[in-house]
Amino acid sequence: MLLNAEILLQYQRCQRRAFLDANGDLSQRDPISDALHRVIQEKFAYQKFVLAQYNYQQPEYPKNDWEAGTKATLELMQQGVECIYKGVILAPYSEDITLLSRPHLLIKQQGHSKFGDWVYIPANIQLSKRPKLEYQIVAAFDAQMLAISQLADPPTALLILRRTDAYEVSLSKWIPLMHLSVEECIRTLNSLEIPEVFISRQKCNFCGWLPQCYAEAKATEHLSLIPGVTPSRYSDLQTIDLVTLEALARANPDQISTLPSFEGKSAQQLVLQARSTKLNSPIILPFGSAYEIQQTLPTQTSQTVLRDLLQSRYLPLKPESLIAPIELYFDIEAQPDLNLDYLLGVVVCNRLTNTEKYYAFLAESQAEEQKAWQQFLDLIAQYPQAPVFHFCPYEVDTVKRLGKLYYTPPEQISLLLARFIDIYDQVAYNVVLPTESYALKTLARWLGFEWRNPEANGSQSILWYDKWLETGDRTLLDAIVQYNEDDCLATRHLKDWFVGFLQNS
Ligand code: SF4
Repeated sequence: MLLNAEILLQYQRCQRRAFLDANGDLSQRDPISDALHRVIQEKFAYQKFVLAQYNYQQPEYPKNDWEAGTKATLELMQQGVECIYKGVILAPYSEDITLLSRPHLLIKQQGHSKFGDWVYIPANIQLSKRPKLEYQIVAAFDAQMLAISQLADPPTALLILRRTDAYEVSLSKWIPLMHLSVEECIRTLNSLEIPEVFISRQKCNFCGWLPQCYAEAKATEHLSLIPGVTPSRYSDLQTIDLVTLEALARANPDQISTLPSFEGKSAQQLVLQARSTKLNSPIILPFGSAYEIQQTLPTQTSQTVLRDLLQSRYLPLKPESLIAPIELYFDIEAQPDLNLDYLLGVVVCNRLTNTEKYYAFLAESQAEEQKAWQQFLDLIAQYPQAPVFHFCPYEVDTVKRLGKLYYTPPEQISLLLARFIDIYDQVAYNVVLPTESYALKTLARWLGFEWRNPEANGSQSILWYDKWLETGDRTLLDAIVQYNEDDCLATRHLKDWFVGFLQNS
């Protein structure tokens, strides 16, 4: 078996994935998605950018002939070239396991090795801004392989990350951990038993095994599908044998709250979450003390104070406060790499005339962002009393950013933001829903709302916008606008449901 850095890296992220990549039926793995393709392209572009700063040589060998690659790399090291791109180091680990290291760069430094008065250190280029655990394990792996081939320990290993100086990995700390990890990884890959599924959006979203894993998690009511169950909480729950939905739904929160990964009211909330899922029914959080706080406020409490309180999380509005003659629903599409908010979308809902109208303020290029911002401000100014509903803090942050960028008077921004009501806060901090997450898509779909294009999502919208910039194809802009309108309408759907639910509870 060939164990390379990629397998080791995937193993740190998900043992099951490393196992399936090595032993699974690869025809069952989903092809690379457009979103992942984009990340890979970005990664290559960044590597190219970094490599342009090095004068490197590359070993030449027949494709996938790692022995020839190792020989060619050692020759370059023997010559003492300054920098080697995609060097290859192959080394036996045991009778049936061979290790393969291919760091992005091997950089020559002063020192002593079998080649002479120089040593090489490994460097890997990553898109991430943080030296994640898996990158440090791989850096330690590459350093150890290099130590074997040059008969000298590299003094360090570098991670060339995005927007930071090169990060020096502490080899004394990470090499022992890497050895443990390699041993565990080999044991797992050789085992007959597939590692347990654990669905975590962050790690699973780009994984080709997701449909298969998700089906299994769903069929077994796996706790990783319950919002709030993190890997560390799951490990803690295992120690007290709470590993099924049924058991968690019946559990006493006091028993859970003593576990290290739980704090405050999270144990109670998790049990309620499990109950809600089991019953497929929403539950009002009993410690929605914010609601009680509001009941205790003097009746003469000023609107300004109320508004200030409403900006803080945990404080729900009275249901009737979430209804106004005219309501605005606001959603933004952005391209983070360009630092561009290219679409400010608003649905104006007039309850008196029972009509609604969608407005799309679109920047067809970076240069048009200011115009879209001004058009948005002009529309909002027509409805000075209307609350502005949105989902999550991005809209608030963006209004602050655009206000600063385009010199909108700060008082105007303050007045505008005082009208903003985050429906996510209202829902997530006051009720528990039988959903797998509290994302807008999940919540609205649970309520029966459907996006006209089921494939549309935030990442897809960015891809469409990038393609629009490349090709000038207006159908891509139409798709973005339709998606944004549906996001605004989904926010309205959720808000209306929330109000009705509170009124009827
Ligand atoms: S979908 Fe998730 S749990 Fe399944 S293999 Fe991929 S990363 Fe692991």
